[in-house]
Amino acid sequence: MAEVIDGKSVAEDVVSKVKALTAELSAKGATKPGLAVVIVGEDPASQVYVASKSRTAKECGFHSLQHTLPADTSEEQLLQIIGDLNVDKSIHGILVQLPLPGHIDAGKVIQTIAPEKDVDGFHFINVGKLGTGELETAFVPCTPAGSMLLIERVRGKDLSGLNAVVVGRSNIVGKPMANLLLAANCTVTIAHSRTRDLPALARTADILVAAVGRPEMVKGDWVKPGATVIDVGINRIPAPEKGEGKSRLVGDVAYAEAAKVAGAITPVPGGVGPMTIAMLMANTVASAYLAAGLKRPSF
Ligand code: NAP
Repeated sequence: MAEVIDGKSVAEDVVSKVKALTAELSAKGATKPGLAVVIVGEDPASQVYVASKSRTAKECGFHSLQHTLPADTSEEQLLQIIGDLNVDKSIHGILVQLPLPGHIDAGKVIQTIAPEKDVDGFHFINVGKLGTGELETAFVPCTPAGSMLLIERVRGKDLSGLNAVVVGRSNIVGKPMANLLLAANCTVTIAHSRTRDLPALARTADILVAAVGRPEMVKGDWVKPGATVIDVGINRIPAPEKGEGKSRLVGDVAYAEAAKVAGAITPVPGGVGPMTIAMLMANTVASAYLAAGLKRPSF
């Protein structure tokens, strides 16, 4: 059976390190890290994510600010708030919770965030830095950055010559994940809905990352024996066995089958999921270090 990669425990390690770095920053007399989270509207899932981000920020010792705006907030009002946060010296990270209501252009909002405070890593400047290998100053999107840390726990930092297949080409997961693996010297293939014979391609992967959004799509016989399997998917499916109307979370990988073949695998929940918020904290403390003219801490 595969080694189970414990994302919860790695995420706790990251948060502990962020706490220590925050304390060191205060000891040096610098401004403590500040994270502003902006949410527009009342999407229940978004409310839960935002509450969790603000709670972890406080736990890390950050200055934590939350703007909860009504669903009818205009684009102009939102851009004004971001403009104010961009010049607020107590804020080092700005996160706008997505999705935004339909009348607001999310792309425009994201590109308004100052790149040096874009701790989600979605601004074109950060996307470009990652694409060109400028990892010293880039902010990398939190989910792929967290997935990369999990891969490093199993395989080490130098992945030279390993074959990596990333299934999914979204801007927030698949593409940045592929760029990170490339920067670590993997031979990377990005697969998507038009890829031919995905099972055969997946079987070439020493590192297989699934970021698709299709419950248990990646079967056990798609996995190369000994491969490291990172399951980014979070899918809620009906679970009548738990009672009427009940549901459960599964990933994009058929876990029970894949775990018999893989060398190491992330579970869902408890794998990549907890890493996302931890890496948001890591990016924010890094931003505060850079703002103070200090060397960026690594994770
Ligand atoms: P997305 O934007 O919907 O992208 C899905 C990708 O999967 C697309 O590139 C799509 O290909 C590809 N795809 C769809 N069906 C496919 C198929 N049958 N065969 C091969 N490729 C297929 O999703 P996302 O935002 O990247 O998220 C992916 C999953 O990760 C979701 O389950 C999401 O909930 C989860 N997620 C988790 C976290 C976390 O914190 N753990 C964070 C973000 C996302 P095309 O481009 O050709 O359409």
